[in-house]
Amino acid sequence: MISQEFKKKIIETLHLLGISSTSIRLEPLNGGCINHAARLTAGNHTFFIKWNESPPPEMFQKEARGLALIKQTNTIRVPEVLAYFDGVDRKPSPPAFILMEYIPSGKPLSSHTFKNLGEQLAQMHLHSLAPGGKFGLEEDNYLGTTLQKNQWHEDWATFFIEQRIQPQMELALRNGKLPPFRRSLLEKLIIRIPELLGNQTHQPVLLHGDLWIGNVLNDPGNHAVVIDPAVYYGDREAEIAYTQLFGGFQPEFYLSYQQVFPLEAGFEIRKDLYNLYHLLNHLNLFGEPYGLQVDSIARYLIG
Ligand code: ADP
Repeated sequence: MISQEFKKKIIETLHLLGISSTSIRLEPLNGGCINHAARLTAGNHTFFIKWNESPPPEMFQKEARGLALIKQTNTIRVPEVLAYFDGVDRKPSPPAFILMEYIPSGKPLSSHTFKNLGEQLAQMHLHSLAPGGKFGLEEDNYLGTTLQKNQWHEDWATFFIEQRIQPQMELALRNGKLPPFRRSLLEKLIIRIPELLGNQTHQPVLLHGDLWIGNVLNDPGNHAVVIDPAVYYGDREAEIAYTQLFGGFQPEFYLSYQQVFPLEAGFEIRKDLYNLYHLLNHLNLFGEPYGLQVDSIARYLIG
Protein backbone atom coordinates (compact mmCIF):
# COMPACT_ATOMS: atom_id res chain seq x y z
CA MET A 1 0.00 0.00 0.00
CA ILE A 2 2.82 2.47 0.75
CA SER A 3 6.41 2.72 -0.50
CA GLN A 4 9.37 1.48 1.54
CA GLU A 5 10.67 5.03 1.62
CA PHE A 6 7.44 6.31 3.17
CA LYS A 7 7.42 3.48 5.69
CA LYS A 8 10.98 4.35 6.69
CA LYS A 9 10.04 8.02 7.10
CA ILE A 10 7.06 7.12 9.33
CA ILE A 11 9.23 4.85 11.50
CA GLU A 12 11.85 7.63 11.82
CA THR A 13 9.12 10.07 12.84
CA LEU A 14 7.78 7.66 15.44
CA HIS A 15 11.32 7.26 16.82
CA LEU A 16 11.55 11.02 17.27
CA LEU A 17 8.32 10.78 19.27
CA GLY A 18 9.92 8.12 21.49
CA ILE A 19 8.16 5.14 19.90
CA SER A 20 10.76 2.56 18.94
CA SER A 21 8.55 0.21 16.93
CA THR A 22 10.10 -1.11 13.73
CA SER A 23 6.91 -2.49 12.27
CA ILE A 24 3.81 -0.48 11.49
CA ARG A 25 0.36 -1.28 10.15
CA LEU A 26 -1.86 1.02 8.09
CA GLU A 27 -5.60 0.47 7.74
CA PRO A 28 -7.14 2.78 5.13
CA LEU A 29 -9.93 5.15 6.18
CA ASN A 30 -12.49 6.59 3.81
CA GLY A 31 -14.25 9.90 3.95
CA GLY A 32 -11.58 12.42 2.95
CA CYS A 33 -11.89 14.39 -0.26
CA ILE A 34 -8.25 15.22 -0.88
CA ASN A 35 -5.71 12.99 0.86
CA HIS A 36 -5.11 9.31 1.63
CA ALA A 37 -5.95 8.55 5.25
CA ALA A 38 -5.32 5.59 7.54
CA ARG A 39 -5.27 4.33 11.07
CA LEU A 40 -1.64 3.68 11.93
CA THR A 41 -0.69 1.07 14.51
CA ALA A 42 2.83 0.80 15.95
CA GLY A 43 3.13 -1.65 18.84
CA ASN A 44 0.35 -0.72 21.22
CA HIS A 45 0.08 2.85 19.90
CA THR A 46 -2.58 4.00 17.44
CA PHE A 47 -2.44 7.19 15.38
CA PHE A 48 -4.21 8.87 12.50
CA ILE A 49 -2.11 9.61 9.43
CA LYS A 50 -3.01 11.25 6.15
CA TRP A 51 -0.71 11.82 3.23
CA ASN A 52 -0.45 13.25 -0.25
CA GLU A 53 2.12 12.54 -2.99
CA SER A 54 1.78 15.96 -4.64
CA PRO A 55 0.38 18.47 -2.19
CA PRO A 56 0.55 22.22 -2.60
CA PRO A 57 3.39 23.83 -0.57
CA GLU A 58 3.22 23.57 3.24
CA MET A 59 -0.28 22.12 3.19
CA PHE A 60 0.08 20.06 6.36
CA GLN A 61 2.00 22.75 8.25
CA LYS A 62 -0.92 25.08 7.62
CA GLU A 63 -3.41 22.44 8.73
CA ALA A 64 -1.42 21.95 11.94
CA ARG A 65 -1.35 25.72 12.58
CA GLY A 66 -5.10 25.94 12.00
CA LEU A 67 -5.80 23.14 14.47
CA ALA A 68 -3.47 24.84 16.98
CA LEU A 69 -5.37 28.14 16.69
CA ILE A 70 -8.69 26.40 17.37
CA LYS A 71 -7.14 24.47 20.26
CA GLN A 72 -5.93 27.72 21.84
CA THR A 73 -9.52 28.91 22.17
CA ASN A 74 -10.25 26.07 24.62
CA THR A 75 -13.67 25.58 23.17
CA ILE A 76 -14.06 22.81 20.58
CA ARG A 77 -11.97 19.67 20.76
CA VAL A 78 -9.46 19.09 17.95
CA PRO A 79 -7.09 16.14 17.51
CA GLU A 80 -3.57 16.63 18.87
CA VAL A 81 -1.05 17.02 16.03
CA LEU A 82 2.12 15.00 16.68
CA ALA A 83 4.18 15.63 13.55
CA TYR A 84 3.97 16.74 9.95
CA PHE A 85 6.25 16.60 6.93
CA ASP A 86 5.68 18.71 3.85
CA GLY A 87 8.00 16.82 1.50
CA VAL A 88 11.39 17.83 0.16
CA ASP A 89 12.43 19.16 -3.23
CA ARG A 90 14.70 16.22 -4.04
CA LYS A 91 12.94 13.44 -5.93
CA PRO A 92 11.86 10.89 -5.05
CA SER A 93 10.58 12.32 -1.77
CA PRO A 94 8.36 10.41 0.61
CA PRO A 95 4.83 11.82 0.44
CA ALA A 96 3.90 14.77 2.63
CA PHE A 97 1.97 13.66 5.71
CA ILE A 98 0.46 14.71 8.99
CA LEU A 99 0.39 12.44 12.02
CA MET A 100 -2.11 13.04 14.77
CA GLU A 101 -4.07 11.62 17.63
CA TYR A 102 -6.48 8.93 16.45
CA ILE A 103 -10.09 9.69 17.37
CA PRO A 104 -11.88 6.33 17.60
CA SER A 105 -15.25 6.69 15.97
CA GLY A 106 -17.98 6.81 18.56
CA LYS A 107 -21.67 6.51 17.90
CA PRO A 108 -23.31 8.77 15.31
CA LEU A 109 -23.44 12.37 16.54
CA SER A 110 -26.37 12.73 18.94
CA SER A 111 -28.61 15.74 19.52
CA HIS A 112 -26.81 16.23 22.84
CA THR A 113 -23.43 16.38 21.07
CA PHE A 114 -24.81 18.87 18.56
CA LYS A 115 -26.12 21.02 21.40
CA ASN A 116 -22.66 21.10 22.97
CA LEU A 117 -20.99 21.78 19.65
CA GLY A 118 -23.33 24.73 19.01
CA GLU A 119 -22.43 26.22 22.39
CA GLN A 120 -18.73 25.60 21.92
CA LEU A 121 -18.69 27.17 18.46
CA ALA A 122 -20.56 30.21 19.76
CA GLN A 123 -18.01 30.51 22.59
CA MET A 124 -15.18 30.27 20.09
CA HIS A 125 -16.74 33.01 17.97
CA LEU A 126 -17.46 35.20 21.00
CA HIS A 127 -13.96 35.07 22.47
CA SER A 128 -11.57 34.99 19.53
CA LEU A 129 -11.48 38.51 18.13
CA ALA A 130 -8.65 38.96 15.62
CA PRO A 131 -5.55 40.34 17.36
CA GLY A 132 -5.32 43.42 15.10
CA GLY A 133 -9.07 43.79 14.62
CA LYS A 134 -8.81 42.99 10.89
CA PHE A 135 -10.17 40.27 8.61
CA GLY A 136 -7.65 37.70 7.35
CA LEU A 137 -4.77 35.71 8.83
CA GLU A 138 -1.00 36.06 9.06
CA GLU A 139 -0.63 33.59 6.20
CA ASP A 140 -2.54 32.19 3.25
CA ASN A 141 -3.73 28.61 3.68
CA TYR A 142 -5.82 26.06 1.81
CA LEU A 143 -9.46 25.17 1.40
CA GLY A 144 -9.11 21.57 0.21
CA THR A 145 -6.11 22.08 -2.05
CA THR A 146 -7.21 25.51 -3.25
CA LEU A 147 -5.06 28.39 -2.06
CA GLN A 148 -7.14 30.48 0.34
CA LYS A 149 -5.93 34.06 0.42
CA ASN A 150 -5.98 35.77 3.79
CA GLN A 151 -4.40 39.17 3.32
CA TRP A 152 -5.51 41.43 6.20
CA HIS A 153 -8.34 43.86 5.39
CA GLU A 154 -10.17 46.33 7.57
CA ASP A 155 -13.38 46.05 5.60
CA TRP A 156 -15.24 42.73 5.50
CA ALA A 157 -16.99 43.30 2.15
CA THR A 158 -13.67 44.19 0.49
CA PHE A 159 -12.06 41.13 2.08
CA PHE A 160 -14.88 38.92 0.86
CA ILE A 161 -14.63 40.28 -2.68
CA GLU A 162 -10.84 40.43 -3.02
CA GLN A 163 -9.75 37.43 -0.95
CA ARG A 164 -12.67 35.08 -1.48
CA ILE A 165 -14.81 35.59 -4.62
CA GLN A 166 -12.30 37.10 -7.05
CA PRO A 167 -9.51 34.51 -6.46
CA GLN A 168 -12.04 31.71 -7.05
CA MET A 169 -13.20 33.43 -10.25
CA GLU A 170 -9.59 33.74 -11.45
CA LEU A 171 -9.04 30.06 -10.74
CA ALA A 172 -12.27 29.13 -12.54
CA LEU A 173 -11.14 31.17 -15.53
CA ARG A 174 -7.82 29.28 -15.61
CA ASN A 175 -9.72 25.99 -15.19
CA GLY A 176 -12.07 26.80 -18.08
CA LYS A 177 -15.06 26.94 -15.72
CA LEU A 178 -15.94 30.60 -16.06
CA PRO A 179 -17.85 30.98 -19.34
CA PRO A 180 -18.68 34.60 -20.27
CA PHE A 181 -22.27 34.44 -18.94
CA ARG A 182 -21.07 33.23 -15.52
CA ARG A 183 -18.33 35.81 -15.37
CA SER A 184 -20.78 38.57 -16.16
CA LEU A 185 -23.23 37.31 -13.49
CA LEU A 186 -20.50 37.24 -10.86
CA GLU A 187 -19.17 40.66 -11.85
CA LYS A 188 -22.65 42.11 -11.43
CA LEU A 189 -22.92 40.41 -8.06
CA ILE A 190 -19.57 41.80 -6.89
CA ILE A 191 -20.90 45.31 -7.45
CA ARG A 192 -23.78 44.46 -5.12
CA ILE A 193 -21.70 42.88 -2.32
CA PRO A 194 -20.95 46.10 -0.35
CA GLU A 195 -24.69 46.78 -0.26
CA LEU A 196 -25.61 43.19 0.65
CA LEU A 197 -23.14 43.22 3.54
CA GLY A 198 -23.45 46.88 4.39
CA ASN A 199 -26.32 46.93 6.88
CA GLN A 200 -24.64 45.42 9.90
CA THR A 201 -21.43 45.52 11.88
CA HIS A 202 -18.92 42.78 11.18
CA GLN A 203 -16.42 41.40 13.64
CA PRO A 204 -13.35 39.37 12.68
CA VAL A 205 -13.43 36.23 14.82
CA LEU A 206 -11.66 32.92 14.41
CA LEU A 207 -13.51 30.63 12.00
CA HIS A 208 -12.88 26.93 11.45
CA GLY A 209 -13.40 27.89 7.83
CA ASP A 210 -14.42 24.48 6.43
CA LEU A 211 -17.08 23.40 8.89
CA TRP A 212 -19.24 20.88 7.06
CA ILE A 213 -20.54 17.71 8.64
CA GLY A 214 -17.75 15.57 7.15
CA ASN A 215 -15.29 17.51 9.30
CA VAL A 216 -17.01 16.71 12.59
CA LEU A 217 -16.14 13.46 14.38
CA ASN A 218 -17.76 12.03 17.49
CA ASP A 219 -15.35 10.66 20.09
CA PRO A 220 -16.28 7.71 22.34
CA GLY A 221 -17.28 10.17 25.11
CA ASN A 222 -19.75 11.80 22.68
CA HIS A 223 -17.73 14.98 22.31
CA ALA A 224 -17.60 16.53 18.88
CA VAL A 225 -14.08 16.83 17.45
CA VAL A 226 -13.48 19.09 14.47
CA ILE A 227 -10.86 18.32 11.83
CA ASP A 228 -9.44 19.70 8.61
CA PRO A 229 -9.88 23.46 9.13
CA ALA A 230 -9.19 26.37 6.78
CA VAL A 231 -9.02 28.99 9.55
CA TYR A 232 -9.11 32.76 9.22
CA TYR A 233 -10.60 35.71 11.08
CA GLY A 234 -13.90 36.50 9.42
CA ASP A 235 -17.57 37.21 10.05
CA ARG A 236 -19.07 34.22 11.87
CA GLU A 237 -22.08 34.25 9.56
CA ALA A 238 -19.84 32.71 6.88
CA GLU A 239 -19.22 29.74 9.20
CA ILE A 240 -22.86 29.14 10.09
CA ALA A 241 -23.87 29.53 6.44
CA TYR A 242 -21.52 26.75 5.38
CA THR A 243 -22.85 24.36 8.03
CA GLN A 244 -26.20 24.69 6.24
CA LEU A 245 -25.00 24.19 2.67
CA PHE A 246 -24.72 20.39 2.75
CA GLY A 247 -26.80 19.88 5.91
CA GLY A 248 -26.35 17.25 8.59
CA PHE A 249 -26.18 19.56 11.64
CA GLN A 250 -29.17 18.88 13.86
CA PRO A 251 -31.50 21.71 15.02
CA GLU A 252 -30.02 21.56 18.56
CA PHE A 253 -26.76 22.87 17.12
CA TYR A 254 -28.42 26.06 15.87
CA LEU A 255 -30.64 26.49 18.93
CA SER A 256 -27.75 26.37 21.36
CA TYR A 257 -25.54 28.55 19.12
CA GLN A 258 -28.28 31.19 18.98
CA GLN A 259 -28.80 31.07 22.74
CA VAL A 260 -25.16 31.89 23.38
CA PHE A 261 -24.52 34.28 20.46
CA PRO A 262 -27.65 35.14 18.43
CA LEU A 263 -27.26 35.82 14.72
CA GLU A 264 -28.38 39.18 13.36
CA ALA A 265 -31.46 39.72 11.22
CA GLY A 266 -30.88 39.23 7.49
CA PHE A 267 -28.59 36.22 7.91
CA GLU A 268 -30.84 34.11 5.67
CA ILE A 269 -30.15 36.42 2.72
CA ARG A 270 -26.42 36.83 3.37
CA LYS A 271 -26.06 33.07 3.85
CA ASP A 272 -26.33 32.41 0.11
CA LEU A 273 -23.69 34.99 -0.64
CA TYR A 274 -21.26 33.40 1.84
CA ASN A 275 -21.89 29.94 0.44
CA LEU A 276 -21.08 31.14 -3.04
CA TYR A 277 -17.42 31.06 -2.01
CA HIS A 278 -17.64 27.36 -1.12
CA LEU A 279 -19.68 26.55 -4.22
CA LEU A 280 -17.09 28.25 -6.42
CA ASN A 281 -14.41 26.24 -4.65
CA HIS A 282 -16.37 23.04 -5.25
CA LEU A 283 -16.76 24.03 -8.89
CA ASN A 284 -12.99 24.45 -9.10
CA LEU A 285 -12.16 21.24 -7.23
CA PHE A 286 -14.90 18.86 -8.31
CA GLY A 287 -16.49 20.23 -11.48
CA GLU A 288 -19.46 21.58 -13.26
CA PRO A 289 -22.55 20.41 -11.35
CA TYR A 290 -21.68 23.05 -8.73
CA GLY A 291 -21.70 25.68 -11.47
CA LEU A 292 -25.49 25.45 -11.73
CA GLN A 293 -25.80 26.37 -8.05
CA VAL A 294 -23.32 29.21 -8.47
CA ASP A 295 -25.33 30.62 -11.37
CA SER A 296 -28.70 30.38 -9.66
CA ILE A 297 -27.47 32.00 -6.41
CA ALA A 298 -25.76 34.79 -8.34
CA ARG A 299 -28.95 35.44 -10.37
CA TYR A 300 -31.08 35.47 -7.21
CA LEU A 301 -28.78 37.84 -5.33
CA ILE A 302 -28.46 40.25 -8.23
CA GLY A 303 -32.25 40.44 -8.07
P1 ADP B 1 -9.04 15.20 3.66
O1 ADP B 1 -7.94 16.16 4.03
O2 ADP B 1 -8.69 14.29 2.53
O3 ADP B 1 -10.39 15.87 3.46
P2 ADP B 1 -9.88 14.39 6.32
O4 ADP B 1 -9.05 15.23 7.23
O5 ADP B 1 -11.30 14.80 6.10
O6 ADP B 1 -9.18 14.20 4.90
O7 ADP B 1 -9.80 12.89 6.87
C1 ADP B 1 -10.27 11.79 6.14
C2 ADP B 1 -11.15 10.90 7.02
O8 ADP B 1 -10.34 10.34 8.05
C3 ADP B 1 -12.24 11.68 7.74
O9 ADP B 1 -13.44 11.65 7.05
C4 ADP B 1 -12.37 10.98 9.06
O10 ADP B 1 -13.34 9.96 8.98
C5 ADP B 1 -11.03 10.35 9.29
N1 ADP B 1 -10.24 11.13 10.27
C6 ADP B 1 -9.72 12.37 10.11
N2 ADP B 1 -9.00 12.75 11.17
C7 ADP B 1 -9.08 11.73 12.04
C8 ADP B 1 -8.54 11.49 13.36
N3 ADP B 1 -7.75 12.40 13.96
N4 ADP B 1 -8.83 10.32 13.95
C9 ADP B 1 -9.60 9.38 13.33
N5 ADP B 1 -10.13 9.54 12.12
C10 ADP B 1 -9.88 10.69 11.46
